Amino acid sequence: MSITITGAKGRQIQVPSGLFINNTFTPSVNNTTLPVENPSTRAHLGTISAASKQDIDRAVESSKSAFATWKTTPGPVRGKFLHKLADLIERDADDFASLEAVDAGILYTDSMGMNIPQAVGNLRYFAGWADKIDGKVLEIDGGIAYTHREPLGVCGAIVPWNSPLMITIWKLAPALAVGNVLIIKTSEMSPLYGQKLAQLVLEAGFPPGVVNIMTGDGANAGTALSEHVDVRKISFTGSSIAGRKILQAAAKTNLKKVSLELGGKGPSIVFGDADLENALLWTRIGITANNGQICVAGSRIYVQDTIYDQFIEAYKNAAAAAPVVSGNPLDAATTKGPVVNRAQYEKILGYIEQGKRCGAKLLFGGEKIGDEGYFVQNTAFADVTEDAAIMKEEIFGPVASIAKFSTEDEVIAKANDSLHGLGAAIFTNDVSRAHRVTKALESGQVTVNAWAMLSPNAPFGGVKESGFGRDMGEEALEGWASVKSIKYNILPKL
Ligand code: NAD
Repeated sequence: MSITITGAKGRQIQVPSGLFINNTFTPSVNNTTLPVENPSTRAHLGTISAASKQDIDRAVESSKSAFATWKTTPGPVRGKFLHKLADLIERDADDFASLEAVDAGILYTDSMGMNIPQAVGNLRYFAGWADKIDGKVLEIDGGIAYTHREPLGVCGAIVPWNSPLMITIWKLAPALAVGNVLIIKTSEMSPLYGQKLAQLVLEAGFPPGVVNIMTGDGANAGTALSEHVDVRKISFTGSSIAGRKILQAAAKTNLKKVSLELGGKGPSIVFGDADLENALLWTRIGITANNGQICVAGSRIYVQDTIYDQFIEAYKNAAAAAPVVSGNPLDAATTKGPVVNRAQYEKILGYIEQGKRCGAKLLFGGEKIGDEGYFVQNTAFADVTEDAAIMKEEIFGPVASIAKFSTEDEVIAKANDSLHGLGAAIFTNDVSRAHRVTKALESGQVTVNAWAMLSPNAPFGGVKESGFGRDMGEEALEGWASVKSIKYNILPKL
């Protein structure tokens, strides 16, 4: 069983539709499937297997066997496997970008320019760590000790649809570098890239069970993985609701380690002294990239009163000067694809209606585009009050909420008055202010005079209800290891 799509270059790209367990594609035990839809056209692309609890049990058994050898595989060899997988993803970048475009609505050009290079970069970065998972030597009373960083065992990664390959690799690369084995549960909204990844895991020669990839939904496959008593860790990226359920599942079963990367409501703060052109560029990209379906989207834009009117005018003009080309995300000329599915589409349009009713000023957008797929106009509201739902809640769509502030203290208080704390951006040419404000913001990452700036060596994650634990950077390794202390009593000379 397989699904075939037509890629950006007109080639037919075929991926298996089964569960990838022990290096074999297999249907779910009860033959359950889920539909895969193209959000540009609402066309049915085919069906993929939906893992049940028994299928998760099968995957865990395979992973347990694989762990016995993978954990003792020398670090340089583990690193080689990761490099090999990076090579293959680079080779097949066109396939991945086409698959992400067709089932998640992500622009082909965005995947080629960002998501795939980031995935490859993370694999290579953590390949370099695989032979550097070292400990410390410690002097202790009466002897000497050393620490040993050990893999946790069978781990799970539960991932979302919005940059699926990149986020999956954020977890796979450090997990395997440390010596864990991994069961990936891809999102039911965008499973096709995972099936392609499974083909490359096989081609790269990973031993069976080191990476198992499960398609299926959250309620069944996701829950079974989070509740499994032989799974030692779940690394999750997704919504707060699912994150809480995973934490509860860990608490009621085996207290497995959990890391959560949840939503955000990122502030982008433009001070009066900022380079206006640069601030315009990044505040626009920060909420329109991937249709705002990015957890660090700069969805709250605070602009200092000294330049507020000028900024609003320029923001409107910049949008008018660069009209979007909406359509097929496979097409290089397209600058706006669809949002991922009907639920997301209706949720975004619902927030836009709330924005229209809450007294904010609609600067542009505010409507759906056409009727064929799930397309929503880039939308911006100005003069948005702090209590408005569009200012407080994560929309996960191309909707900017803009408001005015006067002082540094005021904007810090507003920016921090959020349940979330994932990403923030500030725009200023005053280096002292940049130091003060970046420190004061309650956020896992802050960019200065830009937005996002992902890099494999820079840790990424949240504070407050945006979660805990880090992907990327050396810090990610800690989430996939436990530290053992080994202590030697140095006996006195007789
Ligand atoms: P989601 O939580 O609905 O789904 C994410 C994954 O969790 C999917 O694989 C899904 O099947 C699974 N899942 C759902 N319910 C589950 C359960 N009860 N138990 C186990 N697994 C379950 O989120 P989504 O709609 O795919 O993604 C959008 C959300 O993800 C947004 O809120 C966004 O902010 C967040 N996000 C965060 C980051 C980050 O790095 N912090 C990155 C991307 C997306």
